[in-house]
Amino acid sequence: MLIVQKFGGTSVGDLDRIQNVANRVSATVKEGNDVVVVVSAMSGETNKLVGYAEHFSKNPSAPEMDMLLSAGERVTASLLSIALQEMGHDATAMTGRKAGIVTDVHHTKARIERIDPAVMQSAIKKGQIIVVAGFQGVNEEGDVTTLGRGGSDLSAVAIAGALQADLCEIYTDVSGIFTTDPRIEPKAKKLEKISYEEMLELASLGAKVLQNRSVEMAKKLNVNLVTRTSFSNEEGTLITKEENIMEAPLVSGIALDRNQARISLMGVKDRPGIASDIFNKLATAEVNVDMIIQNKAHDGTTNIDFTVPVGDLQDAKNVVDSFVKDGEIEDDSYNEDICKVSVVGVGMRSHTGVAARAFSTMADNNININMIATSEIKVSMVIDEKYAELAVRGLHDTYELDK
Ligand code: ASP
Ligand code: MG
Repeated sequence: MLIVQKFGGTSVGDLDRIQNVANRVSATVKEGNDVVVVVSAMSGETNKLVGYAEHFSKNPSAPEMDMLLSAGERVTASLLSIALQEMGHDATAMTGRKAGIVTDVHHTKARIERIDPAVMQSAIKKGQIIVVAGFQGVNEEGDVTTLGRGGSDLSAVAIAGALQADLCEIYTDVSGIFTTDPRIEPKAKKLEKISYEEMLELASLGAKVLQNRSVEMAKKLNVNLVTRTSFSNEEGTLITKEENIMEAPLVSGIALDRNQARISLMGVKDRPGIASDIFNKLATAEVNVDMIIQNKAHDGTTNIDFTVPVGDLQDAKNVVDSFVKDGEIEDDSYNEDICKVSVVGVGMRSHTGVAARAFSTMADNNININMIATSEIKVSMVIDEKYAELAVRGLHDTYELDK
């Protein structure tokens, strides 16, 4: 097999841990696999470099930042390659440039445009272990670029796609994706497999494990992703195409998003174009709107409720206030003490009653539901934040996710 193994900052956090990674890579090679390794900078290193730049400037130039920040990954790639050579392996360290990663021109948040895999392919043919510095590429002008914070996952997925690797393993300090947050429900179980679509919906469960951008890219390039820990031999979670999961459970997981605020607009003028006006202004202000509900109110007005991330609330308030001032909205109110719980599973597509059971669970626990949204594979409910844990545990029980 051809396996891409990506090690995050904590996995290469000190020299002993880099040796530990070298041992794991060595073992994978000895099992008869070709391995391409992608590494992050040692944990804390990128922040340290950002701090150095800020010592000199509040607004350091982006091309210089890219040259600076890409250094962290070069350190770990070189050290890991040296460690592997010392163990008798033919290893070679590569920058993003040498690995053929070509990006657009957007310094500090570049997008990968293509990968020219020829150099990597010929190294693999020679039997070499390639160790690539993650998080970086090169633009058409030949400048170093970086892919945005946390971007070395993207490097790994893109490389796995370009080389048509059999597997892309993402090693972190978390052992996989769980049915829900184990700190809330200790009975949460690690999932063996999950589809890309479910993973994207369960983002809040995987946020610390995998960037959504990486999951989207894996889906697009059809890369089999595994998240697992570098600190033990425990099996991780495979994220793959729905077709590869033979017996999809009805529900795969329960996600909780505490980072939501609700905005209620009362007495909104009921005229064609009003929703378009409000939500276009919100979009222009880069407010990320999630759930929206509209109801008929009294004579010629409607009520509109919607949710936004807490961090976008102030921007949203500014937009809404301008409509209140213009007399298009009578009154508004805000509530930050809410959360969103979501039941996610591809099995819902072919089964009825999943949403009804979620509502019953809330009823049994005396939890009032403020808002509801559904998609083919998800039921989301907005409830008061103080019931968050009760709701998650109740739903975990209802769908027997501990079994
Ligand atoms: N070192 C970079 C960061 O800290 C990229 C990464 O770790 O994925 O954001
Ligand atoms: Mg990371």
